[in-house]
Amino acid sequence: MPTVARLWPEFCTRADKEGWPAERLLAALCELELSEREQRRIQRHLAAARLPQGKTLDAFDFLAVPTLSQARVRALVEGDSWLQAGHNLLAFGPPGSGKTHLAGAIGYELIQRGYRVLMARTSDLVQRLQVARQDLALTQEIAKLDKFDLLILDDLSYVRKDQAETSALFELISARYERRSIMITANQPFSGWDAIFPDRAMTIAAIDRLVHHATIFEMNVESYRRRAAYAAATSLSDIEDDRDKQQPEKEIATAKDNSRPATLSSEIET
Ligand code: ADP
Ligand code: MG
Repeated sequence: MPTVARLWPEFCTRADKEGWPAERLLAALCELELSEREQRRIQRHLAAARLPQGKTLDAFDFLAVPTLSQARVRALVEGDSWLQAGHNLLAFGPPGSGKTHLAGAIGYELIQRGYRVLMARTSDLVQRLQVARQDLALTQEIAKLDKFDLLILDDLSYVRKDQAETSALFELISARYERRSIMITANQPFSGWDAIFPDRAMTIAAIDRLVHHATIFEMNVESYRRRAAYAAATSLSDIEDDRDKQQPEKEIATAKDNSRPATLSSEIET
């Protein structure tokens, strides 16, 4: 009991001075021990979850993704019935639309509420499962992932058939079906998934299991990165325009020669 060990001398001195009954002293020490334990547990789970740093719901701009309901996402992280039932979350959108951020943020919120989460790039996880299969330990490896209430498979679309020829990914999806939740992020919705699973029948079977009980987030917006870069380039160009107006002739020429805003925005166009 590290907290009790750390705090008892101070608490006992205070209890003596203020005349606390023994019961109050014990309760105060035990409560602190419990709450610090919980904090340490959350820190351990956060470290094990491999979430992207700093991607929280508070840092997510819901206005940038009009198809995504903030209330819905908040309700999901508050309510646990979907996790108990092993329901899934699927997020689709082009690169930069915020899928990884959203998934990481959902993971973060769930860990704060005592759940266990693991986030991985799907191709890394598939590779790990392939190695296990070669060692005839696929079932055990999949069972190890059972301790996670939510498994986030980021970038499913980047897995290729040759990587998944042994169908380890399908076995993972089947094993968790209606028991343990999966969140998937993918650039392509289901139509492109034929390239991921070994054959069409398995693609259909995988999709069937994933969507049977699922919430789907359609994040069809332009890349947040591109928009942010564009906004920065535009404001830079505004600043330089303002500066141009105040500068004497000669310096305007220099500023134009640098043509930084133009370069930036032409990079963004491509
Ligand atoms: P994706 O996984 O869809 O390719 P990311 O989640 O990696 O996109 O987002 C790209 C970058 O833009 C990240 O730094 C992310 O934090 C940021 N970002 C994307 N969407 C939003 C958003 N709606 N609000 C705040 N930041 C966002
Ligand atoms: Mg991503």
